[in-house]
Amino acid sequence: MNEKRLWNGRRYYSLDAYFKQTFGEKLYKLSLDSGMGCPNRDGTISYGGCIFCSEGGSGDFAVPRMKRMDEQIEYAKTLVSRKYTGSRYIAYFQSYTNTYADVDELRKLFFPVIQRDDIAGLSIATRPDCLQEDKMALIAELASVKPVWVELGLQTIHQKTAELINRGYQLDVYDNAVFRLKQAGADVITHMIVGLPGETKEEMLATTAYIGQSGSDGIKIQLLHVLKNTKLYEMYELGEFKTLEEDEYVSLVADIIAILPPHIVIHRLTGDGDKSILVSPKWSGDKRRVLNKINHELKCRQLYQGCCALVKKISENSCLH
Ligand code: SF4
Repeated sequence: MNEKRLWNGRRYYSLDAYFKQTFGEKLYKLSLDSGMGCPNRDGTISYGGCIFCSEGGSGDFAVPRMKRMDEQIEYAKTLVSRKYTGSRYIAYFQSYTNTYADVDELRKLFFPVIQRDDIAGLSIATRPDCLQEDKMALIAELASVKPVWVELGLQTIHQKTAELINRGYQLDVYDNAVFRLKQAGADVITHMIVGLPGETKEEMLATTAYIGQSGSDGIKIQLLHVLKNTKLYEMYELGEFKTLEEDEYVSLVADIIAILPPHIVIHRLTGDGDKSILVSPKWSGDKRRVLNKINHELKCRQLYQGCCALVKKISENSCLH
């Protein structure tokens, strides 16, 4: 198989390539707000939330909260209309935890959206500990209508870091959720953060390798960035850690791509937090330049997705689990 040909000439399996193969065209995501909260912020698990999480619940680009979902969809379409002239979209429930509600409420929210002609599929961001059996059954129903992606914020496989960032669940909760989501017919997209305080390059690559063999269909690689009014910001101000330099990040992402299995769709290669509250690193604001540098790095080092034997070595090493 000539993967580079399948990946539209790129050195990795991008979301655009996936869209073209799966839907025959490039689609755009509409960021929507379900109005749900998060058990890691409301006291059910903790009050603090994940230390990097801002007021928008890691969904800083979702449309403003409006009453009706069809209004939100039309509004979101106008936001992407300068970049996209097509007629089909992915409805992306991005902010907070989008399965944190009664299953009947979820049914009333998701079904009218997935049944719309202009919606090609759903992307639902949630926590792996908010996927009880009745919600899994609903996801299976939705997935029988159109593609459903469920996005899980794993961020790291390392327990010490999971505690530091106040993720609020253990690794086996993620494993179990991935297994059941696949059984339900959903695609799983796993988020990882590069540059978490105290993590070494080897630890980040171990997280990558773990995601690669976890059953996840896609990955979002996110740069750790510090936003105002977060616990992470307090730690940053106290000098407890430093954010990555641009060249460090570019080199790390190239290593990550090299060890990811070729079938994993890379949904994101960097992060671009809301510039009005972005504290560090400021260079992350120029997303296009960062992406160009990553592509250049891959080319210079002759790397492409899955080229590195480290995939095999790490996935065979059960100690990393
Ligand atoms: S699970 Fe998501 S919404 Fe909840 S605190 Fe963590 S990042 Fe924020």
